[in-house]
Amino acid sequence: MYWESYSHKKIKEVVFGALEQNLDYREKPVLGLPASYLDTEVFYDDAPFLKDAPFLSALIANPNHIGCHTLNESEAAFEGTHKIEKELIDICAQQIFEGGEEQFDGYVASGGTEANIQAIWILKRYYETEFGAKPEEIAVIYSEDAHYSMPKASKLLSLPAYVTKVDDSTRKVTRESIYNCVSKATASGVKHFIVVINMSTTMFGSVDDIDEITRWLDDLKVDYKVHIDGAFGGYIYPFATTSTSLTFKNPKINSFTLDGHKMLQSPYGTGIYLTRKGFMEYALTEEANYVKGKDYTLVGSRSGANAIAIWMIMRTYGSDGWKAKIQRLLAKTSRLCSDLDERGIEYFRNPEMNIVTIRSRYVSPELADKYMLVPDAHGNDVKWWKIVVMDHVKQGTIDSFLSELDAERV
Ligand SMILES: *Cc1c(COP(=O)(O)O)cnc(C)c1O
Repeated sequence: MYWESYSHKKIKEVVFGALEQNLDYREKPVLGLPASYLDTEVFYDDAPFLKDAPFLSALIANPNHIGCHTLNESEAAFEGTHKIEKELIDICAQQIFEGGEEQFDGYVASGGTEANIQAIWILKRYYETEFGAKPEEIAVIYSEDAHYSMPKASKLLSLPAYVTKVDDSTRKVTRESIYNCVSKATASGVKHFIVVINMSTTMFGSVDDIDEITRWLDDLKVDYKVHIDGAFGGYIYPFATTSTSLTFKNPKINSFTLDGHKMLQSPYGTGIYLTRKGFMEYALTEEANYVKGKDYTLVGSRSGANAIAIWMIMRTYGSDGWKAKIQRLLAKTSRLCSDLDERGIEYFRNPEMNIVTIRSRYVSPELADKYMLVPDAHGNDVKWWKIVVMDHVKQGTIDSFLSELDAERV
């Protein structure tokens, strides 16, 4: 995994160069586009700091990234910044997810939810187109710890959903529940499965064992395709692990979701969908006649500034800088875990993730509330409280949480 780190000067050159290649509404005789730069009464385009602020300049220039820019020719008006998005998709697929020389498709979605819906929609269309399958013959399988975007997608796309169980302590998907789901689904006429694997669940930071799960599915001789939900873990886990099971080196994987606006600290609106070549086409909306290159995405118009924000963060750190940042967060998480161990407090933590989920009986609701720990359920049946060691989590805050925890336990 490698991508180069750029200086601020180089980043400015690339972004301003791309904006220059885009259409400038002030200079070209633009009569047909239903779009313009941001309102100048409200968003001043002549503020002096803008010349040093490539992201804000991109926001104000307001390029539209409608469509998919890894596929074919797209709207020439914004070609400059479309190329930045293409480079971003290439780095994510080829470097973070070890795709090597292979080519991939993808786009910057509104978030992890959209990227997951896009993934399930594409695989649904694949089974409908290639196998003549009906929606009720295509099931989505995911674990009880999976994100709620999976039931959302299943309902939206009218697909039956089967939810596997996890072990209460290890948070591992059980073989028995995979078998149960598959046999129930098969009995109801399901012929194809869309399997969603968590590359870190939101609540536990648990990562599904893809090798084990796909082996069980192979034993059952079912037809399936795999999507990986890396909305939370996508910018952490690949930088912490040496395993390649959850990369494009694994031929069983079709697509990935990752989210810039979780760990990467990019603005909201920065989900990413990545897929192997040959699948994006299943989401083609033939009727998108006014869009050059047509549309293959769930969303329509979307801001090019979002792609630029993710690209800028990844280029500022480079792969080595990002790895170092993740190592720092993981070390801080490990220190919290040894402090909990000393106190005999039970928790779940995946050593390759920055989430610590504590059994609720060890923390009073008042203390959890004060430190804004997130419960697994709202209301009375809280079983777990979650700590996420994000960039803003200072050692001092962890220490005062622990001393208040000690005070309430005596
Ligand atoms: C946050 C999250 C999502 C959804 O992401 P949004 O960007 O909020 O739409 C999906 N999956 C997982 C595992 C997440 O943590």
